[in-house]
Amino acid sequence: MASYEVIIIGGGPAGLTAGLYTSRAGMKSLLLERGMSGGQMVNATLIENYPGFPDGISGAELGSLMYKQAVKYGLEVITAEVTGIVPGQPNTVSTTEGDFEAESIIITAGSEYRKLGVTGEERLCGHGVSYCATCDGFFFRDREVAVIGGGETAITDALELSQHASKVYVIHRRDQLRAGKALQDRAFSRPKLEFIWDTVVEEILGEEVLNGLKLCNVKTGQRSTLKVDGVFIAVGLMPNSRNFFNILEFDDAGYIVIDEVMATSVPGIFAAGDIRRNSPRQIAAAVGDGVTAAMSAFKYLQEIK
Ligand code: NAP
Repeated sequence: MASYEVIIIGGGPAGLTAGLYTSRAGMKSLLLERGMSGGQMVNATLIENYPGFPDGISGAELGSLMYKQAVKYGLEVITAEVTGIVPGQPNTVSTTEGDFEAESIIITAGSEYRKLGVTGEERLCGHGVSYCATCDGFFFRDREVAVIGGGETAITDALELSQHASKVYVIHRRDQLRAGKALQDRAFSRPKLEFIWDTVVEEILGEEVLNGLKLCNVKTGQRSTLKVDGVFIAVGLMPNSRNFFNILEFDDAGYIVIDEVMATSVPGIFAAGDIRRNSPRQIAAAVGDGVTAAMSAFKYLQEIK
């Protein structure tokens, strides 16, 4: 079985940064990624809040630069999905491409936006469908948009979007918001926001670009079409943590509990980026987490050797 000093699970900004640091520190490092390196950021057309790029940079380019930099210093990358970890010294990491051994592990598997699962959602993603108001709100200046959801993310997104868009519809499946009262009060007093209650999206309409939503009132069964230029889906996130449930401590939402050096409840296993509890879910924050986790793994190996 191939053996490493550290295995990093997930190739987003946290994982690639952790890999850069562990490789440069001389640790034999493997990064396992099930899809394309770069993580969620590869879907962002333009990233304007990652320091060092005053004119912005596309997520795909930033991901590719991070990958090149980490590999340059010796990080090995294998495309494989991790199916489980058996803790021990060494730990065993099981994947779709076989088992690997590692003295320490850094989990940077990230989170995924929960999808509505309706027709048009996948096809029009990036062409009017977005999951990130902070990333894409700017592109909807003076346009009409809708936000789906009634939680803190949906209401925060709606408030943020009201600074750019001419009109923001908030479409919620119930008649009460889940978001806290302070946010609700702010939202209800914002004139550009209009709430559409007890309503679900049945289809996202448009050929090349989104031009409307097919809605259904769940109480009356009445169907309608709403003309909008963009939709922001904010129905929650799902951490990619289910394969580690049996060994680590998690919070109620499924995020990995870590301490201030990114150590999990199992010695030698660290977590960084969106998958850890209370992550701000920003690329720059994930990068910082990756550095901390890598340095903690390095220190851990020095202690056990
Ligand atoms: P959330 O609290 O899980 O809310 C998801 C919302 O989407 C709920 O209103 C839910 O409706 C709705 N929803 C779920 N599935 C749906 C579906 N298939 N179709 C239509 N609607 C659906 O998620 P979140 O808003 O992303 O928040 C996640 C966590 O981050 C929370 O703990 C939140 O407090 C925190 N957060 C905090 C802030 C802040 O402090 N400003 C900002 C963002 C997030 P129901 O209400 O009917 O279940």
